[in-house]
Amino acid sequence: MQVLITGGAGFIGSHLCERLLRDDHDIVCVDNFITGTQSNVAHLRAGRRFRFLQHDISKPLDLPAPVDYILHFASPASPPDYLKYPIPTLKVGSLGTLNMLGMAKAKGARFMLASTSEVYGDPEVHPQPETYWGRVNPVGPRGVYDETKRFAEALTMAYHREHGIDTRIVRIFNTYGPRMRLNDGRAIPNFISQALRGEALTVYGDGGQTRSLCYVDDLVEGIRGLMDVAHPDPVNVGNPEEWTILELAKLVLELVNGAGSRIEFRPLPTDDPKQRRPDLATITRLTGWRPRVPVREGLAATIGWFRQHAQALAKS
Ligand code: NAD
Ligand code: UDP
Repeated sequence: MQVLITGGAGFIGSHLCERLLRDDHDIVCVDNFITGTQSNVAHLRAGRRFRFLQHDISKPLDLPAPVDYILHFASPASPPDYLKYPIPTLKVGSLGTLNMLGMAKAKGARFMLASTSEVYGDPEVHPQPETYWGRVNPVGPRGVYDETKRFAEALTMAYHREHGIDTRIVRIFNTYGPRMRLNDGRAIPNFISQALRGEALTVYGDGGQTRSLCYVDDLVEGIRGLMDVAHPDPVNVGNPEEWTILELAKLVLELVNGAGSRIEFRPLPTDDPKQRRPDLATITRLTGWRPRVPVREGLAATIGWFRQHAQALAKS
């Protein structure tokens, strides 16, 4: 297949590029580096099957080549990133999604939208099944991301219903692993880089809020399976292992052996969700997929990667 991956130089996108190259697909990776990095795809650029285009997909993209599949993953994803770039985030989720759906229609390509568990907002239903409509504050600071993804889902369903496009929506829950930017501001890279530097780990609020963390290799396999299933309704992908943020900070301290580090409590950001755990019944029924990597194991691998990139860590 000819696969177009938007956001391919980002954390998840670069792992997807790698995974699909392994299956001998041809990849066109499009990214404007707003939160991605050259180094995430540098090792792929020499390959004959990999093409890179630096382009902002909120602007129309004219691509003469045939495209069989569009994986639309471009969007800032870390809360500090989308709070820093609110309008580019709104644009890529709306105009960028419109442009990519337009391309899917013109090329007769299949389309997958990377959505998020953030569409559930601060949920009252726990764990979250796809049928839950969510509790999002549209005008709060996180609204620029949450509402854009909700709009992108609505747009994707409209193109499916109106134009018969073969679409998929994956609702990704918190994912971590190698190639996260060390300073991207999400909990896992923050805790690991703080522990490696011997600094205090910054836990927001009392750390009692929960997240369920998926290792990136598991996520990519889940996505790979869903690519082959014609199911236009949203599907959760993630790991149901649920931890409080304080427990996670303590686990990182233990795994890094961060002797000089302690835990420091900071104010909870506005509208920070109190709990998050995926109901995985749909993906299990559709593909049989289950995540395999326990958090302790995935974190150890991620810490190993961060250690190897200690030089970049020192600069960030
Ligand atoms: P990331 O910031 O590492 O990657 C996003 C990529 O998109 C970056 O390379 C960035 O430069 C690119 N991009 C952003 N706007 C663009 C534009 N206008 N044109 C071209 N490229 C653009 O984030 P990530 O964690 O890899 O997230 C990837 C996707 O998965 C996002 O759509 C995100 O919403 C979704 N997601 C991620 C998580 C997670 O836990 N990592 C959870 C839920 C959803
Ligand atoms: N968090 C924290 N310390 C940090 C970064 C994040 O306690 O240095 C908390 C944050 O408030 C949230 C959780 O960890 O409750 C997960 O945050 P992250 O930014 O990783 O993802 P999201 O909020 O989008 O789920």
